[in-house]
Amino acid sequence: MPNMHSERGVVIDIMAMLTRYLLITGSITAAFANFIACGAQFYKVSLKEDHEQKQGTQLANSFDPDSPEFGLHAPKGWRNLPIRYKTDTNMPALQFSALKSAIQTWELAVGRTLFSFDGKHAGKTGDSFPDLYSSLRDGLNGQYNDGIWSKTGKSRMVLATTIWNNPGNAYETIDAADIRYNSEVYFISDALTEKPIDDRELVDMQSLATHELGHLLGLAHVDEKYDSSSIMNPSIFIGEGMANRSLSVGDIQRIQKIYGCQGSSCNAEATARAIMQSRTSFGLSGAAPKENDEEGSQPGH
Ligand SMILES: [Zn+2]
Repeated sequence: MPNMHSERGVVIDIMAMLTRYLLITGSITAAFANFIACGAQFYKVSLKEDHEQKQGTQLANSFDPDSPEFGLHAPKGWRNLPIRYKTDTNMPALQFSALKSAIQTWELAVGRTLFSFDGKHAGKTGDSFPDLYSSLRDGLNGQYNDGIWSKTGKSRMVLATTIWNNPGNAYETIDAADIRYNSEVYFISDALTEKPIDDRELVDMQSLATHELGHLLGLAHVDEKYDSSSIMNPSIFIGEGMANRSLSVGDIQRIQKIYGCQGSSCNAEATARAIMQSRTSFGLSGAAPKENDEEGSQPGH
C-alpha cells in the first residue's frame, strides 16, 4: 500500500473559457516568449492547482520565492533513474510521440536520461482502475487515458492529474507515479495540427505532458508573477492552435536543483534556447517518432 499520496492536477478556469477572444499572433508571441500559435482563435487555459495533499507530505517552501526550494515539491526527486514507464493500450501514436517529446524536453534540461519506456501496459487502460489512486498499486509508472473521468473523483474540467507516492511518508523523494489524462472531456493530441472532435476541447498533449511530467519529476506550480514563461505556471495557453512546449530558464534551474546537470545543459540560458528551437519545430515539421498504433484512433474509447 502506498503510504502517502499527493496529487496535482490542472483545471480549466471557467472564467477563461467564457472569455475566449481573438488575439493577434504577434502580440501573444511577444508576451509569451515560449508560446507557439498557428490558429486564429485563442483562449487561455488556466492550469489551476488541484490537489488533495495529505498533511505531512507537503513542502512548506514550495511557494516562497526566497526559498531554495521554491517551485519544488520533492527536492530529492526520484532516487532510481531512469524512471521506467508504461503507456495505456489506448494511447494513439500522435499522443505517444508528443509524450516522448515532452520527456525529451526534461532530459535536455538536465543533460541525462530520466525515463525508460517499458512498453504498453498490457490490457490496462485508465478505465481499468476503479478510482484515482488504485493505479499506483501496480508498482508501474503509467501514462493513462481515462474515458470515464468521474471515477477519478476529479472535477469534470480537470485536464489531467499526476499522482505520486512518497516513500516513508516523506515528501523529499518519489518512488512511483502515474499521469492520468481526461480523454472523456478533452481530445488530447497535437493542438497545432489536429482539430477538435466529438465536441471535445482540443488540448496540446506535448504542452500538457511537459507540465504534468514536471510534477512527476518533483516540481510544484510557479506563479506567473515570478516566472511568466514557466511551463509550471498554472496559467498557460494549450488549446486549439496553441502550444507551450518549452521551458523557462527558471524551469531548467529548478529541475537541475533536483537532478543536477551534465555537460552543456549546465548553461541554463543556452539550454532554454536550444529547447525552444527544437520544440518550435516540433509539430510544424511533423518530426515525431513513428509508432505502430492506428493513426487517428481516439483516446478513451
Ligand atoms: Zn499543475
